[in-house]
Amino acid sequence: MTATTESKLRDTIAELGKSLFERGMTAGSSGNISARLADGWLLTPTNSCLGRLDPARIAKLAPDGQHLSGDPPSKELFLHGAMYEERASAKAIVHLHSTHSVAVSCLPEVDPADVLPPLTAYYVMKIGRLPLIPYYRPGDQKLGDAIRGFAAKNRAVLLANHGPVVAGESLEDAAYAMEELEETAKLYLPVHGRNPRCLTEAQIAELRDVFPA
Ligand SMILES: [Zn+2]
Repeated sequence: MTATTESKLRDTIAELGKSLFERGMTAGSSGNISARLADGWLLTPTNSCLGRLDPARIAKLAPDGQHLSGDPPSKELFLHGAMYEERASAKAIVHLHSTHSVAVSCLPEVDPADVLPPLTAYYVMKIGRLPLIPYYRPGDQKLGDAIRGFAAKNRAVLLANHGPVVAGESLEDAAYAMEELEETAKLYLPVHGRNPRCLTEAQIAELRDVFPA
């Protein structure tokens, strides 16, 4: 990967971080964004605010997660490492503590195999299926192990009482999918328990046929 490409990825991480932060999708110093490089990956620093990232200080890591340069990486680096190891197609990952997704992750009645119902076509196209990962304290390596079991088959997972982790084929792709997930969680909260009409199996099959992942 050329230095120019890496520098562009650094700028895009800072731009998307600012946009997500300014729209209230993550608060304080929570949330982290990463991008895969030919020789490792970039990850936002620990205790950094996504609204005010300095592209030059974003951490650079070796493929095994070892810190190479920049500020110390987020403590949640193993979430990203586990996703990259399991998903060859993942070029970027966004993890946020976005309010509505976290709210859904705390509901006792959700199906842990697939948390959100197929309410809209865009949710089905951008996320598809969303498994719930059991709660572990932030920084616990067991969380990375728990994600490993789901990452190969799912671009997104929801960490119980914590927040979503979404992979994409580019930084924009991961951020847009994250936004779709958060919007669907926002939509789900007022309709759940009210027997909403969801997309049917046939409608979902048609979407998968016309818009293959
Ligand atoms: Zn987190």
